[in-house]
Order: sequence, then structure tokens, then C-alpha cells
Amino acid sequence: MQIPEQYFKSGKIAKELKSWIRENITAGMGLLVIAEKVESEIMRRGGQPAFPTGIGVNDMTAHYAPQENETGKTREADVVKIDYGVHVDGYVADTSVTMTENPNYQMLLEATEKTLQAAIDVVKRDRRIGEVGRAIESTAKSYGFRPITNLSGHTLQQYVVHAGKSIPNTYSPGLPMLNKGDVFAIEPFLTLHDAAGYVVESPQENIFSLVVRKRTGDRELDDLTDRIWNARKTLPFSPRWFNQGYKEGRLMALLKELERRRLVHSYPALVEASGKPVAQFEHTMAIEDGGLSIIT
Ligand code: MN
Ligand code: MN
Repeated sequence: MQIPEQYFKSGKIAKELKSWIRENITAGMGLLVIAEKVESEIMRRGGQPAFPTGIGVNDMTAHYAPQENETGKTREADVVKIDYGVHVDGYVADTSVTMTENPNYQMLLEATEKTLQAAIDVVKRDRRIGEVGRAIESTAKSYGFRPITNLSGHTLQQYVVHAGKSIPNTYSPGLPMLNKGDVFAIEPFLTLHDAAGYVVESPQENIFSLVVRKRTGDRELDDLTDRIWNARKTLPFSPRWFNQGYKEGRLMALLKELERRRLVHSYPALVEASGKPVAQFEHTMAIEDGGLSIIT
């Protein structure tokens, strides 16, 4: 089973970005500035962003991507998750790092990184997805933390970030196996032991994707659909990548209309239900003939 070589090109860029982020992103930077820097560094290295760069501060856990009007800045006390993806020809490397200068949360970060490693070690010898979840849950608990139970890793396919199989962060029975040829991301999210341990939707929606390319008969909607398709196919996008030429508020109104017609899907930001900080580490990997390869 041959893994397309573009995965390894995306992965190499994602890996380089990880060191770049650790050297260049510091407390006090604006969230929008961080997202734009990450995305321009991806493009400078010959890749494209696979989705809008997620910046999750503290309890903001996933799918928060700064828009153009973003005013938030990171502070030293914050737990900051940077979740970014690189694609080459639609082949996605999905990864994330968490950073903090808060001594109270150093252990949370360390435990999350160790939990990701424990999950990877399981995949090397056991491809049952339930066992991967079991390792994540038990490793998290052994450090005195708990996993976010309703977020999962996932398989990847060309132009699809969340493909067929989910890899939960807890044990569940009856899940499929990971097979040779599968490319997938494992991403434990850990929070404090007294937290709720699950995420809920927040009203903010700042990530969208095209579900299908279909004519609506409305010229403005069709033009926008074409522009999104040409640039993104079905990969997620940020409105700030498409707002040139629109008056204030117009693009969001068009996206809402496309969503109502089920041509566009939106991803609400997900926040930890009890407001506790969450850390996340993620790698994309592939099962090749020779075994497991970490792509990122
Ligand atoms: Mn990710
Ligand atoms: Mn992911």
C-alpha cells in the first residue's frame, strides 16, 4: 500500500513549522497575527493551509480561528493551543502544539504530550482503535488529568480532513481497526481532573467548508462558490481568505445563505464545558508496509 508522497511533503513543512512556532510565537502576540504568520510560513515553504489556523486559548478547545476583526492577544498565564494543517495537492498533515508560560499548567502540557506518545506506542503494536482510546484515557488519568471525551482523532483523505474513522480519546467497544494504507491523526486533549471533561458549542462560527459544488442560480452565490471551490475544494476555509471585494458583513451573509441551502458547512468553536484549560498535542501518521510512520 503506497502512501501518496505529498503527505510526506506536507508533513515535512508541518514539522519545520513546529520549531518555527516554538521560536517565534510568544505571549503578548495577537491571535490574528499568530494565525496569519503560521499560514504565511506554510506557504513560504511550498504548502497551503489545510484549514484556518486554530488558536485555542485556555478553555477554548477547538475550531476557534481568528477572523479579521479579532482583537484577542495571548498572555503569559494562558494555555495556548495552535492547531494547524498543511496540504500539498489536498494531502493533509494535521498537527498541533500547546504552549504556556504559566508554571501551574506545565504538567498538563507534559502529560498531554506523554499521552500522545503512549497512544502512538499502542498503534505500533495494536491497531484496534478502542485500544488507542484506552491508552489515552489511562495515561491521562495516571498523570492526574482527564481527556476530553467528545473530541477524537480521525483518518484523513485527499481534500478531506475528517474522513471515515474516528479515534476517540477514551475507550469505546466495537470500533474498527486501523489498516495498512490508513493516514490518520491522533490528538489527545487533556484538562484538569475537576473539569467537566467535554466540550460544548460556542456561538462563534469562523470556520466553513464547501459541502458540494452546485449552482444556485444566484450569480453572487455561484461566484463565491466557484472561488471557494477553486481555492479550497472541500477543505475548510476562513472568511478572511475570501473577503476581498465585499462590503462589511456581505461575505458572512452569503456564507449563511449557502449554509441554509446546505452547500456550506460551518464549524462552531468548541469550549470546555466547565471553563477549565485544555492542552492538545497532535500528530499525523500512516501505516505503511514497514509499519507506522509519523508524518508530522
Ligand atoms: Mn488539528
Ligand atoms: Mn485533527
